[in-house]
Amino acid sequence: MVLFKQVLAVVFVLLAGIALSANAQVSSRGYAVTGAGWQWPASTDGIAYIPVCWENPNGWNAETAVVKNKITSTWQAAANINFYGWQQCVAASKGIRILITDTRSNSGIGRYMDGSRNGMELNFTFKNFSPSCQAANRRMACIASVAVHEFGHALGLMHEQDRADSTCKTEARKSGGLLLTVYDPDSVMNYCNPRWNNDGALSALDIVGIQKLYGARKSTAPGRITITDELNIAAGQRAENIIMHFGSNNVRRDFVVNTKTPVAKQSYTFNGPGKYCYKLWSNTLYADNKYYEGYGEGCWTLEAGKNYAVSVRFKKGTRGKAFDIVLQ
Ligand SMILES: [Zn+2]
Repeated sequence: MVLFKQVLAVVFVLLAGIALSANAQVSSRGYAVTGAGWQWPASTDGIAYIPVCWENPNGWNAETAVVKNKITSTWQAAANINFYGWQQCVAASKGIRILITDTRSNSGIGRYMDGSRNGMELNFTFKNFSPSCQAANRRMACIASVAVHEFGHALGLMHEQDRADSTCKTEARKSGGLLLTVYDPDSVMNYCNPRWNNDGALSALDIVGIQKLYGARKSTAPGRITITDELNIAAGQRAENIIMHFGSNNVRRDFVVNTKTPVAKQSYTFNGPGKYCYKLWSNTLYADNKYYEGYGEGCWTLEAGKNYAVSVRFKKGTRGKAFDIVLQ
């Protein structure tokens, strides 16, 4: 245990018997002795990308969605951790592999569970454990709060009540581990917390602890792209309607301009860096009282949190279209 204590850089304490599978305990100690990393490694952008999959998700759409949303809005929102995938496991699946089964929910510790079949077990039915969670008005909240606790283990955290300086008089089995914060009676990882799994909410010190391990999530304000359409009166335009679709959800904006109101602006916000595509359809009235239709499409590579401004421009169409639209 001395070696374990020195090497295993986890927040709290490894506990024998409660909430950990036998495999997780054995592999934790083995890896600790050889000094192998327990922590999920960060990518070059500073984020630890951790695959998650379900061994047996069929029939549990609502429950698996609750878990995903809860983990995304807690651990993933606090620190530089991106859980991804969340599909059904295949034989070669890496990362966190979750079995849905009516047992005491449990999880392996940190990266030691990477790719382990049934590396985490989550109870969605509560027939054998925590039967009070069977109540219709409690079940989803139980599923969510237990998942927060078990994903804490999966990120490398151990039970808070087992710290040497724990004030908890029950449940505690003192053990080693790296202490990231002062003792936290409100932790989601503390069995002595009178609020079970702290009702699924990370405590202030849970957030401090996970940020020490994985870094604080940088909050990036959404980026914005503003599009201007201006009627080209000099070129004989008298009125124009444009419909624009943007992004993977084809969010629509409409531009309406005429000689009285010759400029229209619309904007979209976007989250995260990446490729964003658009489509435009125009209908323009000219001085000869004829309408001309145009179409344009394209994609931009946008950086997170930046603001962009572009304008609608027309160029002479080729394949039978009166005009093509370009944004620049
Ligand atoms: Zn536990």
